[in-house]
Amino acid sequence: MDTGNGTSPADLDHVLSSTDAIETSRSKLLKDLPDIGIGAEETNVHLQHDLVPGLNRSSESPSYYGFVTGGATPAASFADNIVTQTDQNVQVHLPKETISTDVEDRALAMVCQLLDLPPEEWLHRIFTTGATTSNILGLACGREFVLQEAARRQGNKISVAEDGITCSMKKTGLESIQILTTVPHSSLRKAAAILGLGRSSVVEVGLPTAKHRFDLHTLELRLSNARVASIVVVSCAEVNTGLFATDNADMRQIRQLCTKYGAWLHVDAAFGLLARVLPETEEYHAIKEGVSGLELADSITGDAHKLLNVPYDCGIFLSQHLNIGIEVFHNPNAAYLNTASTETTASIDRTIPSPLNIGLENSRRFRALPVYATLAAYGRDGYREMLERQIRLAREIARLISVSEAYDLLPEMHGEMPADVRLKEIYIIVLFRANDDDLNQTLVQRINATRKLYVSGTQWDGKPAARFAVANWQVNVERDLKLIQQVLLEISQ
Ligand SMILES: *Cc1c(COP(=O)(O)O)cnc(C)c1O
Repeated sequence: MDTGNGTSPADLDHVLSSTDAIETSRSKLLKDLPDIGIGAEETNVHLQHDLVPGLNRSSESPSYYGFVTGGATPAASFADNIVTQTDQNVQVHLPKETISTDVEDRALAMVCQLLDLPPEEWLHRIFTTGATTSNILGLACGREFVLQEAARRQGNKISVAEDGITCSMKKTGLESIQILTTVPHSSLRKAAAILGLGRSSVVEVGLPTAKHRFDLHTLELRLSNARVASIVVVSCAEVNTGLFATDNADMRQIRQLCTKYGAWLHVDAAFGLLARVLPETEEYHAIKEGVSGLELADSITGDAHKLLNVPYDCGIFLSQHLNIGIEVFHNPNAAYLNTASTETTASIDRTIPSPLNIGLENSRRFRALPVYATLAAYGRDGYREMLERQIRLAREIARLISVSEAYDLLPEMHGEMPADVRLKEIYIIVLFRANDDDLNQTLVQRINATRKLYVSGTQWDGKPAARFAVANWQVNVERDLKLIQQVLLEISQ
């Protein structure tokens, strides 16, 4: 990928400003609303000189490995400036007035093409604020579908969106809705809470020896409970380890079970999704298996502000059930929002649904343009090359850790697994800890105190652990590995 923005890594020596600089910046915040404003020009100086030094370089620096953050490609960044400049509100499809909804639809179709998901099958597609919102959409559609399906099997017809969850449960005679998954992202329980399903409806059905993989026997046992409706959620790359919940055979079997028992199959592939661009080589076999069969899902969550490297915020939601999406999200009886939904644009032979009738928000930012721009600029090959570079760095970090005296690679794999096979399980996340307990307690703190690297802390098997998440488009394997090696060595001495 052509960097082309003239930023030399030397400008980005530090991923965080010093704590003093951050304190100074904080102290310069206006205390109160001014009666008489300081003016746009002075405000600009205030922002640049006083506030920007107090921000992190989570996106600008390739050495920020916290959370799964991603950067912003040059093409996505300049498109984002156009988004601000033109300030489109992408809510109603108005083909005679603006092409903004066409851009969104085309960008989403291009995303589908990138991921090898036929756009004509994923007609409920929309940009969201992020994977959390996409998971809310997935569960909302799932909730509608599974209760409609239960009623249909009883010879009835219901609408959760119209009648509400309580009434719908009564009509179907069901006791509850369960969400069956393995090691879910925290946002899944949040989505369950928001949607009235409850955090406790999320049930983990992982294997005892590999919690991230489905115990298919337990899954079927749970699904076969006739008093409970089910949504199955596949964690397609778990956030702590980057491990995948399924392989192709699992996905086929889970699809069959969901169809048999009237369950909805949702995949949370916030950062796993992009792995579908990888070539079919031995090097990526384990990763490709993890994203194989996603086309069998009812709905999929993706994050564009992670591995697609567009600016915050931008998530992706895809579903094969446009009718369910419209049932849940349409704005009823709002004449002023009347859309041109019966019109088709000349260039495509399907109607573009108004985004406000298939997603959470009504007024919305023109999030599609940076996605459109970055896909246009770098294409399928650019993204494949970028991800391969990120995986190479992650695997080199894992190799470094696995041969080091001071650190241990996590999770410890059960049974015998040769080192080179183990490394081929690594996607873009490297979980590890220091084997000295004292050092391990402050490991993340010490790494981040260098201000040169940033990693996230987590817990693994009841003890602190640290993780690298490689997600920035600027990754340079040799340069970045050298710095990591220096810092890890320095800290262990
Ligand atoms: C990051 C992440 C989320 C939440 O994404 P946001 O963009 O922060 O809302 C959900 N699921 C998974 C697997 C993630 O990695």
